[in-house]
Amino acid sequence: MMSRIARFLPWLVFFFVAAAASAQKDKAPEIRYVAPDKFERATTKDDKGLLQWAEWKADKCQSCTGTGKTRCSTCWRFTEDAKHCVECKRNKDREAACRACAGLGHWPDPLEKVHCPQCFAAGFVLCLLCGGSGQIKTDGGGDRFGACSMCRGEGGFKCGTCNGARLVEVAALKPSLKEANAAALQKAIAQAEQTMAALDAVKPTGKATRKEVKDLVKAYGLGQATFPPLKRTSKGLEDVIGKVYGGNQFQGFEEREANTLNAFKQHTDYFLKHQKRMLELAHKRAEANEKVLAEQKANKGK
Ligand SMILES: [Zn+2]
Ligand SMILES: [Zn+2]
Ligand SMILES: [Zn+2]
Ligand SMILES: [Zn+2]
Repeated sequence: MMSRIARFLPWLVFFFVAAAASAQKDKAPEIRYVAPDKFERATTKDDKGLLQWAEWKADKCQSCTGTGKTRCSTCWRFTEDAKHCVECKRNKDREAACRACAGLGHWPDPLEKVHCPQCFAAGFVLCLLCGGSGQIKTDGGGDRFGACSMCRGEGGFKCGTCNGARLVEVAALKPSLKEANAAALQKAIAQAEQTMAALDAVKPTGKATRKEVKDLVKAYGLGQATFPPLKRTSKGLEDVIGKVYGGNQFQGFEEREANTLNAFKQHTDYFLKHQKRMLELAHKRAEANEKVLAEQKANKGK
């Protein structure tokens, strides 16, 4: 009974990604992500008195009710005649893979998979110049549109961290996050904390972007040995910001640069909080098991 409640618990503590407040009648689809520090993972005691991970029983995703699809999070703000959308390609129902469950219909085992620290399970990085439509107003004036120069009409960029897979691997511990010993887990927790603090210390303003990118890359560097996806995200940040610089002749570039850096920060923060939580659960289990084994050894020696 208790484990049943525990399994549902994360779903009660949703948080919502702030969607841009819109005066339009159409609203952003509601995507419910599990708060990263609320993930639960049950254990059972085996006949040797050791804690083993219980099988992961995935509940239906609440955002898509298990279908793996939701209304597109990108083009709901476009006009009806928009032809292109980076996310749903303007398919008939304007449906896209559910970002809460990465299109699976259920939440994956948090000991094995986690939301991508770059794209946050969108599978792509949105072009902030055109907002995903691939079209911008041309210099000629009036209402004429042409292909967006930043994304070359794509509306976004493929995510280099997950390569479009939306989810990434968890901390690289030996033999695995699940089975690592308490000391290794403790070290990884400290690294997650250190990286989070360094990322948090960077406050992007759009006025000193090159310096801010450097600081973020440095912060990523602190965690990338334990969390390999951070290495790819750091590279992705440099790639994406390079493209954003290409839009400097357009109005609002400072805001665009700050928004880009803040999106990286937010998505990586979720990733690290999630990892810290799972490492803590694994540490609790490893520590308990190591204690039992030490006691058994001591008793044998008597
Ligand atoms: Zn879903
Ligand atoms: Zn769309
Ligand atoms: Zn674009
Ligand atoms: Zn990604």
